[in-house]
Amino acid sequence: MDIHKEMVTALERQRIASKVEGNPTAETRIDRINRAISLLQTNSKILCEAMSADFGHRSKHQSRMTDITAAVLPLKHAAKNLRRWMKPEKRSTFPFSLLGARGEIQYQALGVVGVITPWNFPVQLTFSPLAGIFAAGNRIMLKPSEFTPCTSELIQKLIRCRYDEEEIAVFLGGTDVGNIFSSLPFDHLLFTGSTNVAKRIMKAAAENLVPVTLELGGKSPVIIGKNANIKQSARSIMAGKTLNAGQICLAPDYLFIQERDKENFLKASRECITTMYPTLRSNPDYTSVINRNHYERLNSYVKEAKSAGLEVIELNSADEDFNHQSHYRIPPTLIINPTDDLRVMQEEIFGPILPIKTYTDIGESLEYINKHARPLGLYYFGNNKEEREKILRETISGGVTVNDVIMHVTQEELPFGGVGASGMGVYHGYDGFKTFSHGKSVYHQSKLLAKLTRLLNPPYG
Ligand code: NAD
Repeated sequence: MDIHKEMVTALERQRIASKVEGNPTAETRIDRINRAISLLQTNSKILCEAMSADFGHRSKHQSRMTDITAAVLPLKHAAKNLRRWMKPEKRSTFPFSLLGARGEIQYQALGVVGVITPWNFPVQLTFSPLAGIFAAGNRIMLKPSEFTPCTSELIQKLIRCRYDEEEIAVFLGGTDVGNIFSSLPFDHLLFTGSTNVAKRIMKAAAENLVPVTLELGGKSPVIIGKNANIKQSARSIMAGKTLNAGQICLAPDYLFIQERDKENFLKASRECITTMYPTLRSNPDYTSVINRNHYERLNSYVKEAKSAGLEVIELNSADEDFNHQSHYRIPPTLIINPTDDLRVMQEEIFGPILPIKTYTDIGESLEYINKHARPLGLYYFGNNKEEREKILRETISGGVTVNDVIMHVTQEELPFGGVGASGMGVYHGYDGFKTFSHGKSVYHQSKLLAKLTRLLNPPYG
């Protein structure tokens, strides 16, 4: 059978199963979530090994934290809370409520949700969305990334062992398969990936009026402001920039710092990289860039900056040679005051390179940020309430972490998503449950009002 037919058949089977089942009970939803938790916990070792094979090298400790635990926690959160989420939500019908009318929102399963995932956190970004999708009572068709073939194949195999195809069906492949997948008439499509591909996804989904949630990336800025603890800021930023070798949608992409704090920041960054990674080339804690294309793309940013005569600082404590290596590791690299025409300032970096721009007035950084596409994350370091409120008020980003980076994504009670070029719609926790449910408005008329409204019917006058 060709892949298109296979997908159409799987979708039909899931639809029928969903209709027969109706709105699934809380027990059924919890069981589906618990099977995902058990799958992850039982197979964490082989999943981490598969991810490391796909990356060339990826720290197993990091993988446990960023992919296994980061998926298990949202799943547990959903299993614990979904009975409460499923309850109808009362809404005011004032002034009709005075005469006995009632209003409520009832949450219903949508049916079949399509999920397309990227390579950078292949396990987390496949399993954490299941929390909201299963909690809302849906079935799932999944298309993981072709850039992580070992992990994607393993995910398919493990899912087949734990679920019927009517619950989750997994399809492997690259752009061609993705193209076909995104043209299916799902009840909802969750896409996590790049802004460019998202445009194609939305076009394909529009043909069937499939609602989309787009979890994208972009250039998330950092501002180091007044009274910031420079040492602590450097520690958080460099930890965020080197985790997964900076291949994170929310990685701090570029940094604004006051001219007078620059040298302190550079010194502190060097110190914390030396502490975290005394060596890099064979350090098991330091992750490799995913493949040759991305490795060359990142190195070309550095080369371009050097050719432009900019100050480029490699944080390579042991002075190792990265020219001949079995993986694609790149040392953390700082580019000082890059101009806007450089590719490193135009494209999402998605690697361990950090451009640093200096400012004399905070307004310059806000003006720059607001001139560019709306980012997924924004980070402010500082201890000045007025300045912090100004930044929060005058910038628009998917989310913000104050005095750290990335952390807002770890909070299940906070909706996660982008705005503008960084995405559309949110998930996580209750907000994910709502995204993957149909919130149906139900109005209960009162007997008295039913009689009274007859007075409004014709004949008028
Ligand atoms: P990508 O857009 O290249 O690919 C993502 C997925 O889309 C893959 O499964 C791929 O096979 C599929 N795909 C590619 N072309 C397609 C097409 N024409 N039709 C349908 N599907 C297609 O992204 P990537 O390189 O895998 O991931 C990196 C990007 O993802 C970065 O921009 C990053 O910021 C973003 N990202 C966002 C989040 C988030 O939660 N907001 C999380 C991780 C990554």
